Amino acid sequence: MESLLIWAVVLILVAAGVVLYTRNFRRQRRDDRERLTQTRDLGMDKASGQYPLVDAAACIGCATCVAACPEGDVLGIVLGKAVVINGSRCIGHGKCAEACPVGALKVGLGDITKRDDIPLLDEYNETNVPGLWIAGELSGFALINNAVNQGCRVIERIAETGGPRPTDSESGLSDVLIVGAGPAGMSAGLKAVELGLTSVVLDQQGAGGTILQYPRRKLVMVQPVEIPTMGKLPRLEYSKEELLEIWEKLYTDFDLDIRTGVRVTGVSGKKGNFAVTTSGGDFRARHVVLALGRRGTPRRLNVPGEDMSKVAYKLIDAEAYAGRRVLVVGGGDSAVEAAMGLAHQKGCKVSISYRKPDLMRIKQRNADRIQPLIADGTIDFHGATTVGGIHEDKVVLEGPNGSAIVPNDDVFILAGGIPPFGFLRELGVKFGGDQKDIAAAGKPKVAG
Ligand SMILES: Cc1cc2nc3c(=O)[nH]c(=O)nc-3n(C[C@H](O)[C@H](O)[C@H](O)COP(=O)(O)OP(=O)(O)OC[C@H]3O[C@@H](n4cnc5c(N)ncnc54)[C@H](O)[C@@H]3O)c2cc1C
Repeated sequence: MESLLIWAVVLILVAAGVVLYTRNFRRQRRDDRERLTQTRDLGMDKASGQYPLVDAAACIGCATCVAACPEGDVLGIVLGKAVVINGSRCIGHGKCAEACPVGALKVGLGDITKRDDIPLLDEYNETNVPGLWIAGELSGFALINNAVNQGCRVIERIAETGGPRPTDSESGLSDVLIVGAGPAGMSAGLKAVELGLTSVVLDQQGAGGTILQYPRRKLVMVQPVEIPTMGKLPRLEYSKEELLEIWEKLYTDFDLDIRTGVRVTGVSGKKGNFAVTTSGGDFRARHVVLALGRRGTPRRLNVPGEDMSKVAYKLIDAEAYAGRRVLVVGGGDSAVEAAMGLAHQKGCKVSISYRKPDLMRIKQRNADRIQPLIADGTIDFHGATTVGGIHEDKVVLEGPNGSAIVPNDDVFILAGGIPPFGFLRELGVKFGGDQKDIAAAGKPKVAG
């Protein structure tokens, strides 16, 4: 009798466990379907660079890849198969492919003939414009190790085949001008030092590239990689600050010519003698390496006062704004997430200015979180307004009912970025999507 009772209890517990598991599983799948609809509506399902390519015939829908993704919400299971739900968040770590038990997944660029954002490169990363090279994430391949490897490969190729070096009479002509001081540009610069080429590295922001934009103390995962002038990076995980310190020590120790706050606006001329126009004057170089990344240039408002130091285009450290009066300009997810992060800081008074009357194009999760904060006055939302001017202690907003003065200490303009692809097209660079037109030029390759 007693053993029967024990069996009954065990059976009930097992049945309860199965029911709970099934419910949870179904809810998860329903959430994945809803997330996919939402990200498609917002255009966030598409990846910017490499992304998980799922072989639906081989996928068994076990969700191991979903759990393996370090970014959390890139993949989901819809109709029993793994699908990319939030491609725009994919960093390309490839943990999903490593984890898949049946090899149904690899990380790549897919069919690039449909992509107008993947530049056509030869196997050494030279574009169709001779002497104009691309390194790093701009090629479509994210991750620090890819950026470093590509930066080195380009410079090695230039050193091997780059033609005659500048003579003494050609003062002001560098062997190579590198645009972008992220991991790709910086390693290209250090490789140039190693190989005895003269170089200048220019960046519109600071040295470090996208790493500079990571949140404070972010844990960065780095695949094994050799850094020029240093050797193998000893660990696989670093904090953002540790990585930046390593780069800084290298470019200081090796006297790399890095100029920050300089935006490159044009490149003309040809291999052997390019003229590069920038916000900080003109430069000349035999070769130009574009290591611009894919994040583009933050969109500016072009209003009076925008050049003041209180204006920023990225929120990195919300804690530093406790007790401040902050205006966030923009109505997308980054603007809303920044506003909510700031509103969480003690004494921080947050306003949002958005050109549309409502916050329409944001993820449901963000909409659900911000609406109560606007409703209870925690965040002051100024819909259908534009910024008329930024002053020391206030901002003027223009709206349908005239001007409003908002007392202010700091402004974040989070109105998206201008992607670098138009700039590349102006320089004559061809993209994957152009392959139909240039089929006659032979089979183009995409670097990895
Ligand atoms: C949130 C986040 C987390 C990530 N985590 C990881 C991780 O854990 N591990 C990993 O390996 N990778 C990670 N990545 C990806 C990694 O940061 C990028 O792949 C890498 O930084 C690309 O390097 P890059 O040098 O090609 O470009 P970037 O680092 O983007 O640098 C490009 C530089 O070019 C400059 N620039 C652009 N246009 C111009 C112009 N016209 N004139 C002058 N300068 C210009 C920009 O200011 C920028 O500094 C992450 C990315 C993000 C967004």
